[in-house]
Parts: sequence; structure tokens; C-alpha cells
Amino acid sequence: MPMFIDTSPPGHCIFCKIAAGEIPAAKIYEDALTVAFMDIGQVNPGHVLVASKRHAVTVLELTAEEAAAIMQTAQRVAVAAQAAFDPDGITLFQANGAAGGQTVFHFHMHVLPRHEGDGMALAWPRK
Ligand code: C5P
Repeated sequence: MPMFIDTSPPGHCIFCKIAAGEIPAAKIYEDALTVAFMDIGQVNPGHVLVASKRHAVTVLELTAEEAAAIMQTAQRVAVAAQAAFDPDGITLFQANGAAGGQTVFHFHMHVLPRHEGDGMALAWPRK
């Protein structure tokens, strides 16, 4: 899969637009601080991103309240994914900065249902 690189100014990036409802996305949950939507790239069925509503680039910029809310939303999504996809496991991860494998520069955490033998490399970024 080609790398997606978004260099939009803060507040105008693609995940800000998804959070604001300005462009379509398959949202599955949102609250005051977070939004969860289906990853357009679906590494495995049920691959979801949990993003901050406010534009923060990396984990370093989240408030404590936002960090807690992200984890709470990710757990809710994981519980739903377990029920919907019956995976053998679930990987939660998120990348910070280009060197950390981040390709969309608006904070997000991946929730990824996993199946034995699915062959997904744990290395990030994806090759
Ligand atoms: O962790 P990283 O920054 O590489 O993840 C970005 C993710 O955003 C990718 O999995 C990509 O498929 C997803 N994406 C998306 N919708 C877009 C653009 C990118 O779900 N419009």
C-alpha cells in the first residue's frame, strides 16, 4: 500500500475534516474528545482509527484528558471488534512522527483485529 502523507496546515488536515464531518468517513463512535472511524486502508477487516477531535500531531501534544479519552474509546472499539469479528487477538498501536512511522499528522490510534497467521508485520511503517 502506498504511504499516505498529509502535509495540510493544522486544523485543515484530513482527520480534522473527518472529525468535523466535512468529508465522509465511516464513523463508528464519537464523543466530545474523540472520533473513531474505519481505516480506509483496512489492513484486516475491522481496522479502526481512534483520533483526537482537536488537532494534535503526536501523543506529545495530547492533554491528559484527551489521552485518557483516546484509550477509553480504543477499549470500546476493541470490545466491539471482539464481538463483531471474533479475532484471535487485537493490536492497539499508534505512530508518532515520520521516523516513528506516522503518515497522517493528526493523532490517531489504530485498533486492529488480528487472526492467527494473518501475517501482518508488527514493524511500522508498513512496507
Ligand atoms: O499510523 P499512520 O499515520 O501511518 O496511519 C495512517 C492511517 O490513516 C493509514 O492506515 C491510512 O489507511 C489511514 N487513512 C484513512 N483515511 C484517509 C487517509 C488515511 O483511514 N483519508
